Amino acid sequence: MNDYQKEQAESLRIIRQYLSPSKQREKENLLTMASEYFSFRKQVDSFLVHYFGHVCQLKCYQNRLSACCGKEGIVTFFADMVINALVSSEDDLDRIESVISNDMDRAFKCIYLGEQGCIWKIKPIICEMFLCDTAMKEVFEKDPSAKAKWNEFKIQEKRFRWPDQPVLFDQLEEIFLDAGYCSSLMYLNNSPGLLRIKQRAGLL
Ligand code: SF4
Repeated sequence: MNDYQKEQAESLRIIRQYLSPSKQREKENLLTMASEYFSFRKQVDSFLVHYFGHVCQLKCYQNRLSACCGKEGIVTFFADMVINALVSSEDDLDRIESVISNDMDRAFKCIYLGEQGCIWKIKPIICEMFLCDTAMKEVFEKDPSAKAKWNEFKIQEKRFRWPDQPVLFDQLEEIFLDAGYCSSLMYLNNSPGLLRIKQRAGLL
């Protein structure tokens, strides 16, 4: 495994340990904490299917047209993995674990890109909020109200992960840190840039 795979594998290991089937109460607490985020993601999904379903095709990923599915270029927050684990079965997580530890050469592709698209149940937020210029031009030029809605979603998204205020992504990291776990994907607690933002907001 390369460094990217090791980071992903370690984070998933930690999360699976914390959320092991015997720890139902911990899982329920996290599901409650993230309920608003799940609802946000559902709204964004519906929007994307409605406005972009006909534009964004699987072939974009397979033909390298998608800037999203570049090899190891994708930022996954620790909280992204927690969120996905909360809605995934043990089998789903086994599949992700085996994909991460597979050393096959995926050429340009993201390690999580399967035959039918992303293998995450709830993909990382960076991926969800990515739209290529061609797709945006095609949809938004015809329908400015869709563009306005998308801009609203972009603002809402920040309320979950941008730490100029208390945010879910930070709270999820804190829970694991308090439980004695640590991961390099905990950017809200280890990225100098994000820590500066928290400091300026008086959160440190
Ligand atoms: S995590 Fe999923 S959506 Fe994101 S780049 Fe990889 S395959 Fe694409």
